[in-house]
Amino acid sequence: MSMEQYLEAWIGLGGQAAPAATGHADAPAKPARLILLGAPGIGKGTQATRLSQGLKALHLSTGDVFRAAKSNQNKGLTPALQAAVGYMVRGELVPDETVVDLVRERKAILAGAYGFLLDGFPRTVPQAEALDGILTDVNTKLDGVLSYSLPIEKVIERISGRRMCKQCSASYHLKAMPPKKAGVCDKCGGELYLRDDDKPETVRVRMEAYEKSTKPLADYYQRRGLLIEISADGAADDISARTMKILKERCGLVPA
Ligand SMILES: [Zn+2]
Repeated sequence: MSMEQYLEAWIGLGGQAAPAATGHADAPAKPARLILLGAPGIGKGTQATRLSQGLKALHLSTGDVFRAAKSNQNKGLTPALQAAVGYMVRGELVPDETVVDLVRERKAILAGAYGFLLDGFPRTVPQAEALDGILTDVNTKLDGVLSYSLPIEKVIERISGRRMCKQCSASYHLKAMPPKKAGVCDKCGGELYLRDDDKPETVRVRMEAYEKSTKPLADYYQRRGLLIEISADGAADDISARTMKILKERCGLVPA
């Protein structure tokens, strides 16, 4: 079973378990089992992609499962997914126990030959406690919890430099990817603007809310000696290098 097939099983609306752990020519000698934490806009997604390739670890996002389920509506969904879709359709937050059930339906994947990078789960201490139970069930342990962080002022500086084209939605960044002519889209000549979501005051409110809600979770893993704090400052390459170095030192994980 390949990494792609594992990922299909993760998103699989029926919550199929991963088949027997055989035929993994490219599986890592020591699978990485990690949780990723980090506020939106600090580059966690980019790091997840790089880590997934470098460590041969499955990037498992609960958001991806929800999106796939929602677009399929009610066709052959497991009980947990059906319940989750119900909450989403009503515009409500999916409760802890439903999210936990959904992960439990997929627990065989967590014990598979490839490592995993859990993204979007756990979000709360009760979810983290439930995850401990699920991992014990499948005789698996976490290697660590990578927590990417950046001072709020730097996040604001980074995000408020984004510009989007009003006509074709192409994206730019005043520093990292400026348009040839200020305020004008290279592709269609449309006007560039700053989205409401990217405005400094909006970013500040979002970051403060994220930090407040994530603090108990970070503390939980800190007490267990699993929290690995990583600065998300600088270029993506530097952040990757920093991450790989600390994973080697702390967890004995090396590129697969
Ligand atoms: Zn455009």
